[in-house]
Amino acid sequence: MPPEKAEALVIRLADFSESSRVVTFFTREFGKSSALAKGVKRLKGPFEGSIDLLAHVQIILYRKDHDALDLVTEAQLVSRFAPPSKEIFPLYAGYYVAELLDIGTEPHDPHAILFDEAIATLDRLSESTDPRFAIMRFELLLLREIGNLPGFTHCVHCETAATASRGSKFWVTASGLICEACGRPEYEHAAIQPGSVRLLQQLSTDEAPALQELSPTASQIKEVRRIVTAAVTHALDRKPKMLGYLKF
Ligand SMILES: [Zn+2]
Repeated sequence: MPPEKAEALVIRLADFSESSRVVTFFTREFGKSSALAKGVKRLKGPFEGSIDLLAHVQIILYRKDHDALDLVTEAQLVSRFAPPSKEIFPLYAGYYVAELLDIGTEPHDPHAILFDEAIATLDRLSESTDPRFAIMRFELLLLREIGNLPGFTHCVHCETAATASRGSKFWVTASGLICEACGRPEYEHAAIQPGSVRLLQQLSTDEAPALQELSPTASQIKEVRRIVTAAVTHALDRKPKMLGYLKF
């Protein structure tokens, strides 16, 4: 194929030879691509030292058929991931974004919305936005894009809209919410708070919510974290490695 321009995020790096690497990109145009970058370890040359984990770059890509590695011949830096220097959590959260894009998407399967959301998430992790909300928003968006978002707006049994008013009861399964009318007495212990349902809805809407304006309680955040972890682990058939470093 002829050379093509792409906007990309570096999501994995592996050594290939003394001067070359295999770089896994998540591109806006073509989805995930593993590409050989010859001479990338030299500071001078067509990569200008731009290829770092989570760097946002413009690249020239030669896509290959089947299982062959693509070839990347040029890269220009758009921006580097720059989390606050004294905090480890936003850094790990960034690594987690890279891992999710790597294990949660297929090669050459584009998801422009997911690409834009990944860039927005890295921006949020670099700012003062609460990184816990930024990361859960990204997880839910990824699940939606790959068709695995549990239903948080309606009861999955009776399809009644889930309005998270005070006193209402909900349970969550792998496919989504169950309302009080559809609940069973044996579920009782695992009911989740209406405020947690509201947070799940706020985080997974189309429009990015103003994350700094969310004000759930600590126990609601804990509940939502547990639900999102279960949904991600279910969708990807494994618990992502970086999730172990992001306890909250
Ligand atoms: Zn129901």
